[in-house]
Amino acid sequence: MSVEGYLKQEPGFATRAIHSGYKAEQESSWAVVPPISLSTTFKQESPAQHKGFEYGRSGNPSRLTLEKCLASLDNAKYGLCFSSGLGATTAIVNLLNSGDHIVAVDDLYGGTYRLLTKVAERLNIKTTFVDGRDPQNVENAITKDTKIVWLETPTNPLLKVIDIAKVCDLVHKHKGVIVVVDNTFLSAYFQRPLNLRADVTMYSLTKYMNGHTDCIMGSISTNNEDIYEKLKFLQNAIGVVPSPFDCFLVYRSLKTLAVRMEQHMKNSLAIGQYLETHPLVEKVIHPGLPSHPQHSLLKKQCYGYSGMVSFYLKGGLEESKVFLSSLKLITLAESLGGYESLAELPSLMTHASIPPEERAKYGITDNLIRMSVGLESVEDLTADIDQAFQAVKNLNKK
Ligand SMILES: *Cc1c(COP(=O)(O)O)cnc(C)c1O
Repeated sequence: MSVEGYLKQEPGFATRAIHSGYKAEQESSWAVVPPISLSTTFKQESPAQHKGFEYGRSGNPSRLTLEKCLASLDNAKYGLCFSSGLGATTAIVNLLNSGDHIVAVDDLYGGTYRLLTKVAERLNIKTTFVDGRDPQNVENAITKDTKIVWLETPTNPLLKVIDIAKVCDLVHKHKGVIVVVDNTFLSAYFQRPLNLRADVTMYSLTKYMNGHTDCIMGSISTNNEDIYEKLKFLQNAIGVVPSPFDCFLVYRSLKTLAVRMEQHMKNSLAIGQYLETHPLVEKVIHPGLPSHPQHSLLKKQCYGYSGMVSFYLKGGLEESKVFLSSLKLITLAESLGGYESLAELPSLMTHASIPPEERAKYGITDNLIRMSVGLESVEDLTADIDQAFQAVKNLNKK
């Protein structure tokens, strides 16, 4: 299958995922796995003289361990964790002042869209949404007030691929405008936007990076010291920090990121190909398949592709509901990137906060299904999809 032709994976990625951020020798016990540091405060030798930690919101050993590991995966100097992906986005938006302007791609994670239109907008930080598939659209939307260009690639749920390097080169002609890339859908294993000249990479760690569906967290990576210092200040000042226990969970999960992502790719390619041959499927959107219009761009800027597949089923809302409710192994639920397969209806679920006319314009219709292909045996997944299609067929017979 089409697993050739991507960027060559950097040597040592899996090693860094396993070893960066912590050494057994840093603990007196030489514990191989870092302990969870729950203390909310840290003893000082004399006033304002401490061992690097004062109060748990401003810094914590479990968080620092994770932040170091995350930075190393993105080849970044700096990493910061936040209480959620949207917490990270909130901190980034707080870099701006009233009157500043954002340019964002138009097919965004619903929660990011909501934050930009319902919260930032109220604070007089306006966003212009553009189709980022043509990088020129992004540059054309830049005004004298623009401070941030927000990319998500592949987009959600339509999986459009955006040329990160090309957008960065156009945007960086405009002094003072930074490019932030939400890299949640591919993880640091399959895409590293900082290598493509982005200024900040942002994650919902909740998804592939943690991959175990048991923790909500976000992060950013950057090589820009000024941006890092400002975001580190905001992390503490706004208070959007993760718990030490959650930091432990994500750090643990990164150890298997490389192997998980390889398997997500294999499984999603198999499911995508299967869907392409199914008579009840109108169209499959899978950037890792040659049928995707930007398949070659994906290969040019990524190391592989994750488990995200969208498809249009033949029919409408009724057929989509029967299909999704009939799934037995694949769970009908929001979210993505975990070891278990999930399926959902963006128009009624993840993207319900986008006004219906906007949704229709983009193609987020009632027959668009989004799947996060997990790590189960492929033959069990296809059998489950097959029996759910059978239920749709029976509906049409009635
Ligand atoms: C889930 C998600 C977010 C938000 O992250 P939370 O951890 O849920 O706050 C942002 N971007 C994308 C692409 C996501 O999938």
